Amino acid sequence: MKILVSVKRVVDYNVKVRVKADGTGVDVANAKMSMNPFDEIAVEEAVRLKEAGIATEVVAVSAGIANCQETLRTALAIGADRGILIETDVELQPLAVAKLLKAVCEKEQPQIIICGKQAIDDDANQTGQMLAALMDWPQAAFASKVIVANGKATVTREIDGGLETIEIALPAVITTDLRLNEPRYATLPNIMKAKKKPLETLTPEALGIDVSPRLKTLKVAEPAKRAAGIKVADVAELVAKLKNEGVIA
Ligand code: AMP
Repeated sequence: MKILVSVKRVVDYNVKVRVKADGTGVDVANAKMSMNPFDEIAVEEAVRLKEAGIATEVVAVSAGIANCQETLRTALAIGADRGILIETDVELQPLAVAKLLKAVCEKEQPQIIICGKQAIDDDANQTGQMLAALMDWPQAAFASKVIVANGKATVTREIDGGLETIEIALPAVITTDLRLNEPRYATLPNIMKAKKKPLETLTPEALGIDVSPRLKTLKVAEPAKRAAGIKVADVAELVAKLKNEGVIA
């Protein structure tokens, strides 16, 4: 069974991003970039399925600028077998990515595609769901446990107020939640080995996909600054202040 994994290059989760002065977006010019954390979980899960003898090949796919190769190499160092870069300078929105992934699914015919539940840069949480709709495949989003057997996946999902377990027929789309697994660190020998693994480059044009943006960002702004706090001498003063300011009756 072949498993596809989508991996997005995003600003590292430790970086505190700044809004550009003209409010058109976020300044990431010199920021450290990494694989989207939910996608690391996706790669880890696919590699574990391979180690368990369930998957035979794990293919990582990334769409974006040429530097996304680094993200693919990280996936290869975790244990993916080969990578596919869909190279474009266009800023990709979820529908465009879903269409690109659909084209790759049609070409590669995987039984499962594992995506992250959301990319931590735009927090869209749309791509996996759109892909499932475009492919007309079952989907299990926000997975915290995945068991694959007999042409089916049994997936425990994190939902409001608890967990839900569903069974879906393959081929299917699964998106990862935080508790699915703890991704391994890529070891130096595996980073070296990853350099020799195959990495194919495609383009949206070659796949026949129009990736032009369909949404326009009107304005990006910093969250309002919190007002400075004050110190009170004792509980009596605190209660008096809360009453005066209408916080308590
Ligand atoms: P989003 O819908 O943007 O929050 O992204 C959800 C998931 O879709 C991510 O965790 C990735 O697995 C995948 N994805 C989004 N954008 C890309 C991209 N440019 N290249 C590869 N995968 C992507």
